Amino acid sequence: MSLLTRLFLAIGFGLFAISAMAQNPGADTGCNTLDATDDLARQSLMSYVCFHSAPPEDPAHQAKSPEQLSQDLNWTPANGHDLVFSHTNSVYWVQLKVRNSGSTQRLWYLKLNYPLLDEVTFWQSGPNSPEKIQTGDSYPFASRGVDYRYFLLPVTLEPNESRTITLRVKSSGALNVPLTFETPEEVISHSNHLTLTHGMFYGAMLVFAAFNLLLFFSSGTAYYFYNAFYMAAMGLFLFAMGGFGNQYFWPESAGFANTSIPLALALCALSMTLFGGSFLEIDKRTRPALAVKTLAWACIVFLALTFVLPYTKTILLNTVLALVVISSLFVIALIRWRQGYQPAIWYVGSWLIMLIGALIYAMAAFGYLADFLARESLMQMAVGGQVILLNYAMVQRWRLLHEKLLAVEHGARTELEFKVHERTAQLRNTMRELEKANRQLATLSLNDSLTGLYNRRHMDNVLPELCAEARRTGQPLTLVLIDADHFKTINDTWGHGFGDTCLQVIAEILTRHVKRPRDIAIRFGGEEFALLLPGTDVHGAQKVSEAILGNAEHISLSGPDGEPARITLSAGIASLGENEDKEQLFDRADKALYQAKEQGRNRSIVSEAVPVSQCDQ
Ligand code: GH3
Ligand code: MG
Ligand code: MG
Repeated sequence: MSLLTRLFLAIGFGLFAISAMAQNPGADTGCNTLDATDDLARQSLMSYVCFHSAPPEDPAHQAKSPEQLSQDLNWTPANGHDLVFSHTNSVYWVQLKVRNSGSTQRLWYLKLNYPLLDEVTFWQSGPNSPEKIQTGDSYPFASRGVDYRYFLLPVTLEPNESRTITLRVKSSGALNVPLTFETPEEVISHSNHLTLTHGMFYGAMLVFAAFNLLLFFSSGTAYYFYNAFYMAAMGLFLFAMGGFGNQYFWPESAGFANTSIPLALALCALSMTLFGGSFLEIDKRTRPALAVKTLAWACIVFLALTFVLPYTKTILLNTVLALVVISSLFVIALIRWRQGYQPAIWYVGSWLIMLIGALIYAMAAFGYLADFLARESLMQMAVGGQVILLNYAMVQRWRLLHEKLLAVEHGARTELEFKVHERTAQLRNTMRELEKANRQLATLSLNDSLTGLYNRRHMDNVLPELCAEARRTGQPLTLVLIDADHFKTINDTWGHGFGDTCLQVIAEILTRHVKRPRDIAIRFGGEEFALLLPGTDVHGAQKVSEAILGNAEHISLSGPDGEPARITLSAGIASLGENEDKEQLFDRADKALYQAKEQGRNRSIVSEAVPVSQCDQ
């Protein structure tokens, strides 16, 4: 940063030094005749040029032709330096004596390399010479004779002919009279080279402006528009400064030539302000935002004043305005950079270059910089550099925005992933709970709530499977149906509550006697129970049921009234026969139970018959 500042100061200082040299034309050495055929002499034309500055009180100020000048006019030799004058109201008379020492008639051009002079009149003594050429910004462009943005005076000299060329120059604002004496070939070649550089410069500006405009239309981002506006305004300003405006845009309206420059300058200042305000993303509530707003309004006011006030005032005002705008935006950009807004540094860089450009322009505008061509290319380089940096700044800004967007996206994605994980975990928990609840529900639905034994649904579920297994393996499967005897009486005698207790006692007896892991005790009706005994034949089953019946009969129970209560059970036993299905098995067991009831209860009966049919599944 400090290095850049030093560089900038060094350039500024150097330019001032050059201008100081240009300002002092030096000592009087006489106004010699230039031998036009001597190329070296032509290169140092300014050593042959003399001038006379005529302030308003000088009679030469009023003179309208060289004849009206006093014979003993005090001509000052330019002494090798360009004629550069700060804001002045003098009329300048310039004189050059030329001679063709060759043996043929030849044509040269006296070229005035500054396009912005209000009034320029050329005279030349000699037989074939035109009377005079009166031209300048205050005349239509056609008055120049040659269609060229600079002033060209054709000088045709016969062999050994000498001629005196006199110029009268009057202009508001700074006044430069940079002169060269060139052959037609030199004029053409200079013009060609300049056409190439100018073409490249203005072409690039136009492409950048158009590109930014397209970006604006596609993205809707304001600063692209302001950047395009800035480049158009800057292009217009340099175009006008270079004399192209007079040549191509307003060749007929002589009055506008002068106005165009402060006008373009005000447009530049306005576009710079708008672009800066938008690009630097200034918080609307802060002081820099207020400064930008004030500057923008000042630019609009100065823009309007350009049409009202005379050129001499507006050029001064608008130059000061542009300098204020540039330096303010420079400071604001620095503030934004300090605040951590990264793209501001590129903006600062481009503005630093612009400051140099503005300095060059200001020095030229106030007559401190002589070489118009050098100044023009310096300005173009400064503006070109600035435009490239500004566009780079926009790319940086875009990159920053993109990075921010990516970070936000990444954050959102991470958060989303986290939430998904969280939800998945929650879901898994819920599923686990649901599974548990389902298991509980299944247990509940397969168990009898009073006794805890399996219920009828479970029996319906497992019986077909057990039948199929028995058929497959040839192992026996025995079903024992057990029914409490005269249970109605128990209920009637001691109440339903005691009846329930008796049912629980019976269940407990069954559970105790059903020992094998695969044996299943079931309560499938009110006081009706069943035993499913896979791998047990009728004899084994009979033993189990006898034990159960015996246990029930001998258990000592007393009713709520203290009276002893007796429970007896009856059982029907059937083993699955070959080709028998579960209904047939059940029927046989039921019939056997019925027989047990019939035969006096408290006993077990084994079913004999084996029907011929298929087992389910
Ligand atoms: P049997 O010796 O012929 O089997 O006579 P029983 O009285 O036991 O037969 P019945 O089928 O006529 O009566 C069955 C009784 O069982 C009727 C009902 O009061 C009783 N019972 C059925 N389910 C329950 C129950 O869950 N709790 C109670 N306490 N009693 C029940
Ligand atoms: Mg019964
Ligand atoms: Mg009964």
